[in-house]
Amino acid sequence: MDRLVTPAFATEELRELLQTPLPVQEGSTPIRHILTDSRSLLSPHDTLFIAIPTDSGDGHRYLQQLYARGVRSFVVEHLPEQVTRGEWPGNWYVVPSSVGALQRIASAHRARFPQLVSIGITGSNGKTIVKELLYQLLEPTRAVMRSPRSYNSQIGVPLSVLGIEATDELAILEAGISQPHEMAALREVIQPSIGLFTCLGGAHQENFPSLEAKLREKLLLFTDCHTIVYGADDPLVARLMRETCPRGEHLTWSRRDPAATLYVVQEETRGDETNLQLRALGKDYQLTLPFADAGYVEDCLVALTLLSRLAPELLGQPEPWAHLHPVAMRLEVKDGLAGNTLINDSYSCDLRSLSIALDFLRRRATATGERPVLLLSDIEGSGLDDRALYSEVASLIRSYGVAELLAVGEHISSQLGVLEGVRVMTFPTTEALLSSRVLSQIQGSCLLIKGARRFAFEEVYRRLSIQEHQTVLDIDLQAVVHNLNHYRSLLPPEHPIICMIKADGYGTGAFELARTLQEHRVEYLAVAVADEGKELRDKGIRTHLVIMNPELRSAETLFSHRLEPEVYSFQLLEGLRAKARALGVRDFPIHIKVDSGMHRLGFDYADMERLGRELSACSELRVSTVFSHLATADEESGADYVHHQYELFAQCCEALERTLGYRPRRHLLNTAGIERYPQYALDMARLGIGLYGFSPTGRGGVEPIARFSTVILQVKELRAGEYIGYGCRGHLSRDSRIAVLPVGYADGFSRRLSRGAYAVMIRGHLCPTVGNVCMDACMVDVTDVPGVLVGDEAILFGCAALPLEHMAEVCDTIPYEILTGISSRVQRRYWRE
Ligand SMILES: *Cc1c(COP(=O)(O)O)cnc(C)c1O
Repeated sequence: MDRLVTPAFATEELRELLQTPLPVQEGSTPIRHILTDSRSLLSPHDTLFIAIPTDSGDGHRYLQQLYARGVRSFVVEHLPEQVTRGEWPGNWYVVPSSVGALQRIASAHRARFPQLVSIGITGSNGKTIVKELLYQLLEPTRAVMRSPRSYNSQIGVPLSVLGIEATDELAILEAGISQPHEMAALREVIQPSIGLFTCLGGAHQENFPSLEAKLREKLLLFTDCHTIVYGADDPLVARLMRETCPRGEHLTWSRRDPAATLYVVQEETRGDETNLQLRALGKDYQLTLPFADAGYVEDCLVALTLLSRLAPELLGQPEPWAHLHPVAMRLEVKDGLAGNTLINDSYSCDLRSLSIALDFLRRRATATGERPVLLLSDIEGSGLDDRALYSEVASLIRSYGVAELLAVGEHISSQLGVLEGVRVMTFPTTEALLSSRVLSQIQGSCLLIKGARRFAFEEVYRRLSIQEHQTVLDIDLQAVVHNLNHYRSLLPPEHPIICMIKADGYGTGAFELARTLQEHRVEYLAVAVADEGKELRDKGIRTHLVIMNPELRSAETLFSHRLEPEVYSFQLLEGLRAKARALGVRDFPIHIKVDSGMHRLGFDYADMERLGRELSACSELRVSTVFSHLATADEESGADYVHHQYELFAQCCEALERTLGYRPRRHLLNTAGIERYPQYALDMARLGIGLYGFSPTGRGGVEPIARFSTVILQVKELRAGEYIGYGCRGHLSRDSRIAVLPVGYADGFSRRLSRGAYAVMIRGHLCPTVGNVCMDACMVDVTDVPGVLVGDEAILFGCAALPLEHMAEVCDTIPYEILTGISSRVQRRYWRE
């Protein structure tokens, strides 16, 4: 992970912070990037790499590689020989603990923003959920930053904190511990002003002598908080909170005590909803939450308690609560195969969450009349011995009326082999379960799937699920980031980039891309029309947005949503100006498009003088950038035309600036231009197809981001001589096994791929198409694939042997058209990490 820190850290500052003499010194570029994962290297000259030894690998192993790539500042626990021999001059900070050093740097960064309100969240369960809840609710009206995913460890917390920026008003950070003495370090890093405690459960107890000891350790996060927030109905929690923070303000929620900050007057679960009647600040509120899970409701109550102080208006608005994002939900319910219902709860696996999930299972199964079945792995880290733990589990299973238990793992199997009144099957491992026939025999049941991470129940879940959308486009967001960094490395350091996410992100989905690119601090995003831009703003994208084809009709939307229009004609300019004047808008940024030879849209050289004059007298609009587009950057023989366009563009800019009176930023390059003509980088660059994993000049360095796949719907044995498909265009010359795939030209699998022109990948074999591709289906020859089965995956493109470019070639087009042609009914699935 790479963290951009602003303001930068000077060498001197780091030296003092880390209290280490510098053995060898070279230059003193201030540090702007803190790097712990060598793969994320972005900007070598101002990066500080912190070599951290972890269970999964040692950062010290990458020193050589990073040094070769130009990094000159390092935090290490021991110096490599090359440094002692004087071969690698640079700034080497030798410290006893590199994690400690990372924490000290983060803590210094945090201290730069004394005005920032930081909310430190801890507790046994629900930290991530509470964080996400608060974020979803506060983010529309505040500048909020939050720790990514569940970055709550000794390394994750400082990395999160390094992401704080001067414009942030609120930081929401979670802190988790597994060992005594860890929390004090995290407190120094987070320096929370508000402390929030979710709940006390059994997770990670093995390293602590008692529940109280563990709680005391957690509460060390709160010692300097001016406000703490928690549920007051647990007497142990309430007592220790008073001891920890005797002078701070206590915001509590309670089902019993009407004097609590938030008093739960009434609570009723109906179907998948929970109705709450609450009293806070002397007023009564009614809220409906879109879920029934008891644990999740309690997480909401903690969040509500804080909000009653921070943003009380939110309690009176039912809207935001009704639309809470289900992503963060702990219990996922889904239809499974064979009439089963699946409840997936792999978020945590401990006693508390088990009883919540079993409660949910019972209610669900009672409502639908299905058999309640529990699939459970060994429970780890409870701090109890096996006998005590599993007798507790057994009594839960009985009291919640589970009909059948599938137990996976040595421990649970040895303790719960026999349970009166419950049908039990045991398996030593997940593999043993998967290779038995048990899963395929479960019918008409409601299955709760709950397993510790190590047991990887994802595969079990997949096996039991109906794959609703069998044809999917998988998007690897990590590869998008890789590609962004690749093009950044071809441009001068810190060169601003506009990422083109028009046409719904070249077909891959504009919102997910925008979110990822915003996280990686891309300066600008560009879409085609105002509605696309508005949708991104509504979903929380704050990056500068350029609208490439604005319409006058949408001028109000542009101004109200800070969507910066491209302006390519006097008519558009006049129209925008009139609207701006009517709305009282001043200095609104616009982007001037110059036609330097593409002959699509844009002003000509002859327009420049008048354009500059009109704009210089225009207080409503201000030219942010001037740009033009290359027509031949991707062609080997296009160089002369590119130089010509560059010259003409430069002349246009100068002519414009003469009458305009100021100098807007200039940009010319698209992806092919960045690859071939970095000398024309000017002030910015516009990155399109390269982001999506295609290098238009064939120089490589990019990773594919999209993988298009489906599954086999049916397999048929056919005799030689039989015909296949419309018009009987497929004729079999041998006895064949033919697979039917649910993908056709309406999905973007072109008819040009018919009759053997293309082959898809099944079980590592290329299988040619047979007959014509139909609207919703196609047939492929799987005669030579051993063991082929219904449900097997067929890769349409996106693996090494079958790149997107190949499909484009067969269709006699460019990858742009293939990607944007994948229809919207194909589900997009996004992957990070
Ligand atoms: C689409 C577009 C780009 C990006 O082009 P790529 O070839 O995909 O890099 C750049 N500039 C303008 C004006 C565009 O419309």
